[in-house]
Formats: sequence, structure tokens, C-alpha cells
Amino acid sequence: MLFDVVIIGGGPAGLTAGLYTSRAKLKTLLIERGLIGGQVTTTEFVENYPGFEEGVTGAELSMKMEKQAKRFGLEIIQASVREIAEEGKTKKLFLEGSEEVYEAKCLIVATGAHPRLLNIEGEGTYRGKGVSYCATCDGAFFKGERIAVVGGGDSAVQEGIFLTKFAEKVYIIHRRDRLRAEKILQERAFSNPRIEFVWDTIVLKIEGNDAVTSLRLKNVKTGEESSLEVQGFFIYIGYNPNTEIFADMLRLDQEGFIVTDETMATSASGVFAAGDVRSNALKQIATAVGDGARAAIGAEHYIEENFSK
Ligand code: NAP
Repeated sequence: MLFDVVIIGGGPAGLTAGLYTSRAKLKTLLIERGLIGGQVTTTEFVENYPGFEEGVTGAELSMKMEKQAKRFGLEIIQASVREIAEEGKTKKLFLEGSEEVYEAKCLIVATGAHPRLLNIEGEGTYRGKGVSYCATCDGAFFKGERIAVVGGGDSAVQEGIFLTKFAEKVYIIHRRDRLRAEKILQERAFSNPRIEFVWDTIVLKIEGNDAVTSLRLKNVKTGEESSLEVQGFFIYIGYNPNTEIFADMLRLDQEGFIVTDETMATSASGVFAAGDVRSNALKQIATAVGDGARAAIGAEHYIEENFSK
């Protein structure tokens, strides 16, 4: 089936691109392998997206973006793209476990990123048994318990604060003595009596029986090792891009993010990228949305120039 535009990824960048291209009367398909909304759905509460003066839950914001784009005719399917092949001027998309092949005049890649692993002993064993990468999804399992969060960025601090709704105590373990998180989050965390910071410390190992019982820690300044008793362990140490299937097709930066110009055009003709998957993206919902709009306009111009008779 031939579409003008196929968008891969249904987070804010992809949904905005879909809103713009559909509204511009381009036949558009959005393919999402997980939940519509992407990483936003794993964010409990969004305070810095304009238009919601009291803030909005990640789930509600995603739902509103989806409905708005669908109103203009955006088609959405849940599937995973396995391979992309260039066929003359169009691109063919092959899906995981399906015979269906979709064809696109233009492609917008908005596949986002996934949580980075700590790669320590016990991480795989206790994933889902105390180890989590999503406070919104799993926080409620730890009512009245002790939780540790690792990381010093916006995610670790924001989600650490959120987890105090459930946990009796939240330790934020950071490998340095200064946070990377924005000041407003730092101030909230410092004044929260349930949060305790563990500075200059790395996690060596996750220990437990059926579920997590403790973390083995090491102070990187003194070399001293210690044990911290916790039932939950949330890992927020950044994100890696979802770009495996584009490795041979698009120019990627050293960390695997897609390199674009300011119009969101990638190194391949007729392929645009938007949102967190893009190299040097700010990784905010507001900027992902801006990227999505630019990619859509880029796609519109590309189709006009290359497909109109
Ligand atoms: P991030 O900003 O990249 O921070 C990752 C944190 O994890 C850093 O503090 C880093 O330590 C630490 N870290 C990295 N690898 C580690 C390792 N192997 N062991 C221990 N610690 C490690 O990631 P993020 O917090 O997920 O944020 C990602 C992006 O999303 C950012 O641009 C952020 O601004 C944005 N974001 C914004 C909001 C918001 O606006 N409220 C909320 C969430 C995320 P160092 O500091 O020592 O490097």
C-alpha cells in the first residue's frame, strides 16, 4: 500500500509530524511498536509543556496528541518495522511477523530512545523483581518500602521525587557530588524529607533472593564499599537511540543518534528524523514537537519537488 508519508514512532515528534502531514492532505501512516505517546507515557506528570497551566499526566497528553492527529486522518498501526528498502524513488517497509509491505514517498523517523542499562550483576536477574526503568509503571508496587534511584539528571531527580509518593525512603545515588538536573528539581529534591542523596557512589551489584533486597555500593572517592537495603531500584542514567535498523541507511553520530540538518533532513534523500532519536536533540517534549512540525514541512516540500508531475 502506497502512502505519501510513513512515520515510524508514535511519541510527541511522530504524532506532531502526523498531525501536520495529515492536515496538509498527505496520506500518512504512523507505525508504533509500543504505546502511542512513547516515553511520555512513562512520565507521571508533565509540568513544562505549554498550554497546561496546572500540568498534565503523560498518559493524557499522549491521548490528546493522538486524537488530534487522527481527527485529520492520520492512520496508526501497531507493528515493528524490520527492514527498509529503497525502491526507485519510494521506500518499502517490511514489518516483523507480517506479510504486509508498506510503501512511502517519504519517511519520517521518530523512533526515540530507550533507557540505558547499568550493565551490572543482578540487573537482568532482578528486572521486574525490584529493578525498574519506569517509576510511573512500577512505583506503586513499593508502598512504604525503601527505594534507590541511580543517576543525577532530570529523569533520576524527577522520578525520585515522584517515588516519595509511595516509598518511605528514596535514596538517589549519583556518581559525582553535583547533579546535572535542572535547579527547580534539585531544590524540590533537597527539601523533600524522604529523599537522601548518596554522593560520589556507584552501584557494583544488585543482590536479592526472589526479589531485590540490597545494593552493593562503592564510594569512588574513598574506595569504601557498603551495602544499602532496598526493595526497589530505579535506573535513570540516560537513553540510547532506537536506530538499529537505520545503521546502514542513515548517517549516525558516535552514540548512534541520527544526524540531521536544521530542516530535519537526514543523509538519505526523502528521509527526515525528529525528536529524541536526532543527534544533539534537547530531549524535551516541546522540542520533539517542534522537530515533528519541521520534519512534516520538509516531507511536504520533498514530495512536491519529487513527485508532482
Ligand atoms: P542525562 O541527562 O543524560 O543524565 C544521566 C545521568 O546518569 C547523569 O547524571 C550521569 O552522570 C548518570 N550516569 C550516566 N551513566 C552512568 C553510569 N554508567 N553509572 C552511573 N551514573 C551514570 O539523562 P536523563 O536524566 O534521562 O535525561 C535525558 C534528557 O531528557 C535530558 O536532556 C533531560 O533534560 C531530559 N529530561 C527532561 C525532563 C524535564 O524537563 N523535566 C525530565 C526528564 C528528562 P553524570 O552527571 O556524572 O554524567
